Formats: sequence, C-alpha cells, structure tokens
Amino acid sequence: MSETKTPPRVLVVEDEAEIAALIAYQLTREGYRVETALTGAAALDALHRDLPDLLVLDRMLPEISGDDVLKALREDPATQAVPVLILTAKKDRADRIQGLELGADDYLTKPFSPRELVLRVDAILRRAKGELRATTGGGRILRAGPLRMDVGAHVVAFDGEEVQLTPTEFRLLQTLMERRGRTQSRRQLLTEAWDVDSMAASRVQTRTVDMHVRRLRGKLGAAGEWIETVRGFGYRFQHPVG
Ligand code: CA
Repeated sequence: MSETKTPPRVLVVEDEAEIAALIAYQLTREGYRVETALTGAAALDALHRDLPDLLVLDRMLPEISGDDVLKALREDPATQAVPVLILTAKKDRADRIQGLELGADDYLTKPFSPRELVLRVDAILRRAKGELRATTGGGRILRAGPLRMDVGAHVVAFDGEEVQLTPTEFRLLQTLMERRGRTQSRRQLLTEAWDVDSMAASRVQTRTVDMHVRRLRGKLGAAGEWIETVRGFGYRFQHPVG
C-alpha cells in the first residue's frame, strides 16, 4: 500500500460479476477505494467521470474489448497516464506481450491469486508515483535558509534565483547538504559526487575536489560560505541557522 493519505482509487473492469466482486473485496480490504465496471462502455464512462489512480482491466469483454478500452484510454490525453494492469485468460505469451504493447503496465494471467493481484497493484502505483516525481520534480527538497535544492528536478535556487550548476557541482552540493554538519573527506566526496569507486578515487587528484568546491562556492554567492573547509580533512556544509 502506498503512503498517500487519501487511498488510491482503482477502477476494476471485468464482465464476470463474481470475479469483479472478488477483486473489489480484496482491494478494499487492503485500503483501496474501488469502483467496478462490467462493460467496456461503462469503463470508459467511469474513466471520464472520475479519473482513477489505476485500472484493472480484463481483456476479454463483450462488445468493447479490454484491448479497445486500453487503446482508447491511451489515445486520450485526459486518460493516457492512468496505469493499467490487464487480466488475461490467454496463456499464450504472444497475447500477453500484445497487451503490454498496447500500453498496459503489467498483466496477470487468470486464474490469479487475489494476493498476487494486490501486490501487482501496489507495485504499479509505487512505480507510477516515482515516475511522476521524476518528471514534475515534485521530489525531495533540501533546504538551508534561502538555499533550496529540488533533487528530482535538478534545480538549485538561492533566494528564489536559480543557480546554474554543472551535474558534478550539483551532486557535490547535494552530498554536502544531505550530510550537513558532518565533515566529508575529499575521497568521500569523490566517491559520491563523481560516482567513482574508492579504488579509482584514490587515483583521482583530490585537488579536483578543491577546484570544484571553489567553483561551487563562487556560484552560490553568500551561501558559498556555508561550505566550510576542515583543514586536513575535507569539507562540511554548515548553515548558520541549521
Ligand atoms: Ca471476461
């Protein structure tokens, strides 16, 4: 189950009423809010009325098939981002792959255990949330007074003014801010910000770190002073107000 405060809404599309009820029961028990639709038409209706966080979609539906629902959903900008778990009775691998090609996020072959279904739903929603974070940049924010780093969006701002950093400078600042108050050796910084292992780090000139820290300080202006030199050891990020 994801950590959102309002429980995610799942729309279950399945023409066999008993299976639909079973899925709804299981998901509700796990804390999801569930709506069911017995036909493709009802599903498209429900989708446009109130966008769910996830769709559980049976492929074999009379009239409008699950595949057609999926196609329609992926073509419509209003619904195209909704994650879809398809249910398929077809054991044939080619069929299942076809479902994924149509834009499903995962599939489950009937008969399935309700527990398995819940695990898949959990996993898809967790993944969807991670991706959303990466694209909107609504991710982790590191702050030190007027200095603000949006880790997901790769944006640093001081007093609301964006500071242009190279990727290495960004990672260097991120490492220092994440470990604020703790001295980081040049070697630790090389491992983190340059993404080199400790073997390689011992060969890279530690002067490289000094050079980048100097540049980073210059770009940060007043906030540059918060990167302190710890003589004989390395650097430490320290914000006067914490
Ligand atoms: Ca069916």
